[in-house]
Formats: sequence, C-alpha cells, structure tokens
Amino acid sequence: MGKTAGGSSGEAVKVVVRCRPLSSKEVADGRELAVQIDETHAGVAVTKPGSSAPGKKFTFDHTYGPSSTQMQIFEETARPIIDAALAGYNGTIFAYGQTGTGKTFTMEGVYDDNDLRGIIPNAFHHIFHHIDADKADGEKQRQYLVTASYLEIYNEEIRDLLSKSYKTKLAIKEHPDKGVYVKDLSAFVVKSVAEINKVMGAGKKNRSVGATKMNVDSSRSHSVFTITIECSQIGLDGAQHIHVGRLNLVDLAGSERQSKTGAEGDRFTEAVNINLSLSALGNVISALAEGASRGKRHIPYRDSKLTRLLQDSLGGNSKTVMIANVGPADYNYDETISTLRYANRAK
Ligand code: ADP
Ligand code: MG
Repeated sequence: MGKTAGGSSGEAVKVVVRCRPLSSKEVADGRELAVQIDETHAGVAVTKPGSSAPGKKFTFDHTYGPSSTQMQIFEETARPIIDAALAGYNGTIFAYGQTGTGKTFTMEGVYDDNDLRGIIPNAFHHIFHHIDADKADGEKQRQYLVTASYLEIYNEEIRDLLSKSYKTKLAIKEHPDKGVYVKDLSAFVVKSVAEINKVMGAGKKNRSVGATKMNVDSSRSHSVFTITIECSQIGLDGAQHIHVGRLNLVDLAGSERQSKTGAEGDRFTEAVNINLSLSALGNVISALAEGASRGKRHIPYRDSKLTRLLQDSLGGNSKTVMIANVGPADYNYDETISTLRYANRAK
C-alpha cells in the first residue's frame, strides 16, 4: 500500500484513435475515405462527404491508421498498463466506438493467429511469459496467483459470464479492505495461457448462448474481462510482501446513436442505458484528466454501474487507456465525428 505511480512513465489517462481499413464491401460499394490519420503528429482529419471545406482536425496521445498492426497497438498502448498490473497497480483498457469499427478486433482479434491476435490474448501471453521468466530466476523467489473474471453489463445489470446462470443479476459492494467488488462474481485461478484462454472461451460461449436466449445483441452490452495478479515475495527484512494489480479489459457497447423514433420498449431502454453509461464514463475520464492538472476534483463514479465497478481502477495510481475506434468511410462521417468528440473530451 501507499505506493505512488510517481516516476513511472506516462500520464494516468491516455486516449488514442485507431482507424480500421475499408472493408471489402466498402471497397466494392465504391465508398470514399473520409478519415486521414497523421501518425507522426498523432492527428486525425475528417472530411465531410461532398464538401471541399478543410476537414475537422483532432489530436490525441497517438493515432493509428489502417495499416497499424495488432502488435504495434499492444506494445504502445496496452503493454505499459499490463506491466503496471504486474507491478501491483490497477489499470483499465477500453475500446470505444460505433459498432463495426473494430473494438472487438482490437481487444480480441484472432486468438490463434500470432499476427492478428488482439490486446487480450497478447496480454495473456505477456503475463505468463513474465511470470515464467521470474520463476526461472530462482533468486527472486516470487510467487504469483493469477485469477480471471468475466462479466457483462447490459441495461445497467451485471451478469457473470463464467457462471452457468447467465440471468443472475449481481450487486456491486464496497469493502473497507477489498474496495469495490461484485458480490458472488466467479473468479478462476489460472496458471497458464492455455488455462486463461479456456476461461475466456467459456465466458464467450455463455455470453452468446445467454444472449440468444434473452434476445440481447452483444453490441448492446459492455464486457469486462478482469485479470487479478497477486505477487508475494520475501523481502530483505525476512517478511512477506504482497502486491496486487488488477487489469480490466473492456469492450464497450456500440456508441452509435439509437434512432429515437424507431426504438420502442426494450430497445428504447437499452439505448437510454447505453447513453447513460457511456456518458458517465466520459464524465469520469474527463474529470480525471482535468483533476490531474487542477488538484482534487469530484469524480462522478456513482453515475453508472460501469464506472462504479471500475472505481478502484480509474484514477488514483491506476493507468487508463481509451482506444477510440473509427471506420474510414464517408457514410460514417457523423458517427466518426461524434466518436472523436467524445474521445477528445476524455483527453
Ligand atoms: P466492433 O466490435 O466495433 O463492432 P469488429 O471488431 O467486430 O467491430 O470489426 C468489424 C469488422 O471489421 C470485423 O470483420 C473485423 O475483423 C474487421 N476489422 C476491424 N478492425 C480491423 C483492422 N484493424 N484490420 C482488419 N480488419 C478489421
Ligand atoms: Mg464487437
């Protein structure tokens, strides 16, 4: 306890933008590119279809164009957070954006393809590689305990994706020592990449089976995969020292505006809840970003389940990265601008 992140590199909140390539359908349909990425200056420019006016420009901590690789994104945006979690700090990585822009590609990608696997499988490999290397170094005498949890937030209700009873709605609690936690959430101890992959796979299966049964589209829910890394070591003083880092990997619900006229009943409630939680997240992140320069500030964690759940992993000594995903094509202009505005406010 009492550790500070002072001296560790980088700010507490980083925002990057990733633009995916045109899909083959977009190419076949003759779609025009509306997004220009300037990786050197961390810039994005978006031109309005049919307009000769100069594009709207934004800058971020980093921007990644259509030819950016999964490994590049992992090394530059995710790895510092995972290394911090191995050292006992909490961290969170969010993928934000309209449905179809590459959130799941960025977070998960293709598990069994070394070049195409995304942040989550790359994190699994990185964590166990680090632990195995530490174990091989007999002098360090470190013991690790890694656990994994996987949940979904849909309509402001939390479901455990690692339990068979998909329907159970779990409650968020607070404990003086443990901090904020989800009561009765499953947590599995994992000892290798194969084991954590299995946990992930089981959760994904429960998610799709449960979602089909209950008529939920996964793009309408947030998924949170959490890895907790506990490390204990006998210090020079002969006493046992323990540090715990928690890493949250979050694939957010699609940020596209729901048509207010078309949505009724359940679809309308979904839309309201998605807007509520994404705007609560934007408010927390921008309060944190501002607070960093202006001293203490009220951070509105309690405004949504997502921000409440992640309270101990946003702010304080935690590290956060938001990856805002956009599509490159002209017909996405409005949504792309809205994503960049959101991300810009979060900076
Ligand atoms: P989202 O999760 O935001 O709805 P997906 O990750 O499912 O979007 O991506 C939509 C489609 O675009 C998928 O077929 C995915 O494979 C593809 N795609 C997304 N990002 C990239 C990328 N950077 N390179 C190649 N294909 C991508
Ligand atoms: Mg997705």
